Amino acid sequence: MTSAETLSAPATDIAREAARRRTFAVISHPDAGKSTLTEALALHAAAIEEAGAVHGKAGRKGVASDWMEMERSRGISITSSVLRFEFDDVLLNLLDTPGHADFSEDTYRVLAAVDAAIMLLDSAKGLEAQTLKLFDVCRHRGIPVITFVNKWDRPGREPLELLDEVEQRIGLRPAPLNWPVGVAGDFRGLIDRASGRFTRYTRTPGGARRAEAEVVDASRAAAEEGSAWTAAVEELALLDEIGADLDLSLFHAGSCTPVLFGAALPNFGVRELLATVRDLAPPPAPRPDGSGESRPVTAPFAGQVFKVQAGMDRAHRDRLAFIRVCSGRFERGMSLVHQRTGRPLATKYAQTVFGRDRSTLDVAYPGDVIGLPNTVGLTVGDTLYVKTPVVFPPIPPFAPELFAVARAKDNGRAKQFRRGIEQLDGEGVVQVLRSDVRGDQAPVLAAVGALQFEVVAHRMAEEFGAAIDLTRLDYTTARITDAESAGPLGSRSGVEVFTRSLDGSLIAVFTDKWRLNAVRREFPDLTLTPMLAAE
Ligand code: GDP
Repeated sequence: MTSAETLSAPATDIAREAARRRTFAVISHPDAGKSTLTEALALHAAAIEEAGAVHGKAGRKGVASDWMEMERSRGISITSSVLRFEFDDVLLNLLDTPGHADFSEDTYRVLAAVDAAIMLLDSAKGLEAQTLKLFDVCRHRGIPVITFVNKWDRPGREPLELLDEVEQRIGLRPAPLNWPVGVAGDFRGLIDRASGRFTRYTRTPGGARRAEAEVVDASRAAAEEGSAWTAAVEELALLDEIGADLDLSLFHAGSCTPVLFGAALPNFGVRELLATVRDLAPPPAPRPDGSGESRPVTAPFAGQVFKVQAGMDRAHRDRLAFIRVCSGRFERGMSLVHQRTGRPLATKYAQTVFGRDRSTLDVAYPGDVIGLPNTVGLTVGDTLYVKTPVVFPPIPPFAPELFAVARAKDNGRAKQFRRGIEQLDGEGVVQVLRSDVRGDQAPVLAAVGALQFEVVAHRMAEEFGAAIDLTRLDYTTARITDAESAGPLGSRSGVEVFTRSLDGSLIAVFTDKWRLNAVRREFPDLTLTPMLAAE
């Protein structure tokens, strides 16, 4: 008897539903093709909601994120949502992330809610800064990574060189699942390593975006592709020789990566990528909870808030908490408990968020994402459960590198100012630091990227009616400290100690690393714990 058969009927349901879900995100450097790939994935799979709602960039067809003036005027996406595709028998949840590096903390939180990531590389550029940063987060969380080398239809680097770069620079053992035939810029097609099947790449006349995919057997391909074929076959032999094969357990442990070559724009190799997510990406697994144990997916409902976003719907000015289901079956209307406050939480208005569209969500399983509108007090990292208390480990914030004092332009709007700052803090738009010295009217905002400040200024004025002045401080480095260390730290110049509103931890900020090291030399016993670095 399998273990599933020994479970009660609903648990069997939950186990089966969880097993067919793949929840993942795409990490990449801007311009590597994330939006294009997302659209291509949706095109190949059956996007469950209406077509046209799929995420895209401002100015492009299928635009989803024109909700905020700032996004529109700057051509960046700040919001993110969830896309859902059905592909064969699996259900794919693609958690979208904002494209700009300044919002990498937001991406990090989204990565806390996925079971796998696609690392998207531009074939001409290989590993770029933002990819490396986000890869580090995947490594930190042990997230399995599938590599997709994009833009193979145009001049790029040698495939072996790219694999070497992945191995040397980030220590992931690459295992190519397919292999390109033809040099960069003269792309002929892809050989599937497992079956030896060759899929020819044919440019579609008239600039149509979808490439023709013609499957050709090896002997015909050898005759027709000549030296390009021979070169690819030699490289494949080399790969076999060095044993560049996929080790599934190493992949799941985050140390080996299946690699696929392709081109998102002409939709070539995208289907193979979907099949790889289906076959290799892990389904939702038991999650460590506060008890030090792992909570099985079949346990009663529990979920974690990984994102809080306001203002997505201008008409309603609402605030949506995104919750990843970690265990159990969610049913709309069920009453949940908010672990941090112990307060009950109604779920009558649970939603799915697809691009900019939303619809009522009745049932959800592990791996799915629930949107709960207008939930007061939910912040990133919070756990929700049904009966027996559960607490998932918090999602730690990034180390901020930019700091600015915020003040209301108009003293008469102190109430709106306080409310706005509190709400943006809860959403994790910036970290809010306070100290007795600076007082409540002048909190210090801490960020990873300068655009976060712009978002705060924009939203404080537009949403809360409390325009602010921001004065930058020349601190660059932050460490977590404790009450004992705070005294000596606060007495040094170039150092200031704050309480972080979100979690009450004490944060020491320094003008630069040199100052930090000098203080360390002077007081070797102080607590100065690094935070998760964004760099
Ligand atoms: P993002 O910033 O990562 O979302 O990148 P985009 O999806 O906006 O793509 C950046 C640019 O690369 C756009 O001009 C795309 O048309 C182009 N692009 C994306 N994928 C491919 C591809 O496979 N081949 C080619 N030739 N261009 C691509």
